[in-house]
Amino acid sequence: MNRVIILRYSEIHLKGANRGFFERFLMENTQKAIIDINAKVEKGGARYIVSEYDLKDENKLIARLTKVFGFNWLSVAECVENEPEKILECAKNIRLSNCSFRVTTRRADKKFQIPSAKFSAMVGDIILNNNDNLKVDLENFDEEVKVDIRENGQTFVYLHSIKCAGGMPIGCAGKAIGLLSGGIDSPVAMYKIARRGAKIFAVHFHSYPYTSERAKLKVIELAKILSQYCGKIKLTFVSFTKVQEEIHRKCNPNYMITIMRRIMMRVTERLAYKNKCKVIVTGESLGQVASQTMEGITSSNAVVKMPVLRPLIGDDKDDIIEVAKRIGTFETSILPYEDCCTVFLPKNPIIKPNLCQVEEEEAKLDVDALINECLSNLEVIEAE
Ligand code: ATP
Ligand code: MG
Repeated sequence: MNRVIILRYSEIHLKGANRGFFERFLMENTQKAIIDINAKVEKGGARYIVSEYDLKDENKLIARLTKVFGFNWLSVAECVENEPEKILECAKNIRLSNCSFRVTTRRADKKFQIPSAKFSAMVGDIILNNNDNLKVDLENFDEEVKVDIRENGQTFVYLHSIKCAGGMPIGCAGKAIGLLSGGIDSPVAMYKIARRGAKIFAVHFHSYPYTSERAKLKVIELAKILSQYCGKIKLTFVSFTKVQEEIHRKCNPNYMITIMRRIMMRVTERLAYKNKCKVIVTGESLGQVASQTMEGITSSNAVVKMPVLRPLIGDDKDDIIEVAKRIGTFETSILPYEDCCTVFLPKNPIIKPNLCQVEEEEAKLDVDALINECLSNLEVIEAE
């Protein structure tokens, strides 16, 4: 008898001739996620099997594997040879109490002589004889014991399944660069795009010394949490101090945020080209704050050619918070360190900026020089 972890993949099974393309990413990402743990990963049909690991590493393996995008469910199983006696012996170790249960046998190995329904009843008898207060209920069961008799001569016996992160394997959709603030929304936005298979790069704009070192550490921490799902994240810090001071000095203060956003987008697009990213990701949600009105979005979108993905555009704050809590970024996001957007914050920000007026205000600046200034002063770290 041998313990294994079975992983079942998600949407990939809908893919046709190019399924292998997605499977290769999934295999590579799975191996990378557990690279520091001794274990073997192999593919068996639409499943991936992790085996030959030390039992003490099992929880760690489960914690890592449930975060690999591309898998829907995971089960810890006992693996035995396709021999009735061995499977029944294995069933003796199943511990259940005070519940109803059923046994479901899947017999892919047609050389296995006993029909599925009959074998399920045999396994059920063994479980009944070795546990107290159990009853079999084929319709309304609390627990289901699965016996999976495979063509390759191995049988898996298991009880529970654990929900995994779902989505598509990282890398299969190409590269994306996300504007990562220290807030609640942008980490969730990046998580969602990564979950659809994008390899994520991140950029953060800071206004040191107006913003603190702790604010920067918070962003690094958020990128580290995301990297548990996305793999290593290249995070670029851009100093935005000079840009903000210039806007503050030369432009109508009510246009501060609008113009800042436009310069952030231009700098991000340049970084995207440099890193071969095909799209930009932001955490904007329609109408959430003054800069996220349709007019605000039109104004910031107007300065870039690259598609801008806004996966939270139709989400309520409550929905976003729910995801942030589930993926583990929420507690860090709510730490009270200032963001560069709070520096020189205008009293009456323009809520529905008119593009012509924005361009008129912006013309007071040497935008290209400011962009070059930003790009000449980058700090890059790998968050993992
Ligand atoms: P978040 O919770 O993501 O900070 P928010 O509700 O505070 O979002 P805004 O401050 O209007 O909204 O920012 C909108 C988007 O612009 C953010 O989701 C993020 O993608 C990007 N952004 C804002 N500030 C920064 C920053 N300092 N560095 C990088 N990106 C930023
Ligand atoms: Mg913010």
